[in-house]
Amino acid sequence: MNVHARLADLATLGATPDGIDRGLFTPADGAARRRFAGWARAAGFAVEQDRAGNVFARLAGGTDGPPILCGSHLDTVKQGGAYDGAFGVVGGLEALERLAASAAELRRPIEVAAWAGEEGSRFPLGCLGSSAFAGLTSLDEIEALAGDDGEPFAHALRGPHGLLADVPLRDGFPAPSAYIELHIEQGPLLERAQVRLGVVTAIAGQRRLRVSIAGQQGHAGTIPMRWRADALCAASEVVLAVERAALEVGESVATVGWLEVSPKQTNIVPGRVELRVDARSVDDDRVAEIERRIRETAGRIARARGTPIEIELVELRAAAPMDDRLREIVRAACESLVPAVLDLPSGAGHDAMCLAQIVPTAMLFVPSIGGHSHIALEKTAPDDLELGINALAAALLTADRELPLGRGTR
Ligand SMILES: [Zn+2]
Repeated sequence: MNVHARLADLATLGATPDGIDRGLFTPADGAARRRFAGWARAAGFAVEQDRAGNVFARLAGGTDGPPILCGSHLDTVKQGGAYDGAFGVVGGLEALERLAASAAELRRPIEVAAWAGEEGSRFPLGCLGSSAFAGLTSLDEIEALAGDDGEPFAHALRGPHGLLADVPLRDGFPAPSAYIELHIEQGPLLERAQVRLGVVTAIAGQRRLRVSIAGQQGHAGTIPMRWRADALCAASEVVLAVERAALEVGESVATVGWLEVSPKQTNIVPGRVELRVDARSVDDDRVAEIERRIRETAGRIARARGTPIEIELVELRAAAPMDDRLREIVRAACESLVPAVLDLPSGAGHDAMCLAQIVPTAMLFVPSIGGHSHIALEKTAPDDLELGINALAAALLTADRELPLGRGTR
């Protein structure tokens, strides 16, 4: 079975008319991890799992120390596509198969990881498995998380769709020598540049704000316009201020993708609005500046309209620069296959963000047709998938040759 058949097979797990729903430890996710373990074993690789639900397949090398690790995730967002995450896992598996078939001399093992719950679509923590692996979130904390259906993580892990029954459980989270993640771009930059391989410079840092706007609820027919304190009108100005902040600060993005109006009645002046802001950049100072501008403008809007606005910072994640040396290795591998390679930042979060905190980490991207992702029509051309796998295999091989044996350090 090749990468195309495997992606098509995984796409049937959790398939709905509107896309793929494969939240962590759902029947579909359990089946996907079982499929991965089965394919890896059939290829002759040793398979293990850890207490966060991550699954690893190992191609043996000359020594038995920390591996060069690649991989991605098998869970999806709700109504997701067939390539986000899944490609890095089965593409990684195929890269290992190609290395095994080439009879290349390896100095150490090479592993591919299927990280648990990257999307945070069932448990309220993104990059769950890789965050536990990198020691950024304690296992106690993760075990206490409740899924969106109320089931605690610890319970789901031991349930029928959690840990795989016939796969050995690893002690702890042993760190690798280095980590290389292959992923679809999920944006339009490669396609627009007509370049087929991209090397990630850094993964964007992020701030999430929760904004609450208090107005004066009232009758939509009787209250004159000049005496209103309409929470939604104030919110509309806040939304535009978010857009303006990102445009003016530059090299950043900011979005309001969630907004709730209450009481949400045609004949009532809105009394309250809650909205959420997501701001990102590979430059942490720019994200901080966006927040500062939003707060300043919101203060002015609140005073002018008589609608108190509260802003709470609910999530702050620093940008994760990729390792210079490993990035050069990945870039050289890409340049050996295509005439041009694009250096680009990743606006999306990835497991590589967590791994980058502990070991040298790099990422490579293949194009997403139309820039589409987190949607059923997400797609990458088969030839580009092949190219990505060849680039990954070449990078893994060079990394094994060039990087010191033993646990990687940053
Ligand atoms: Zn992903």
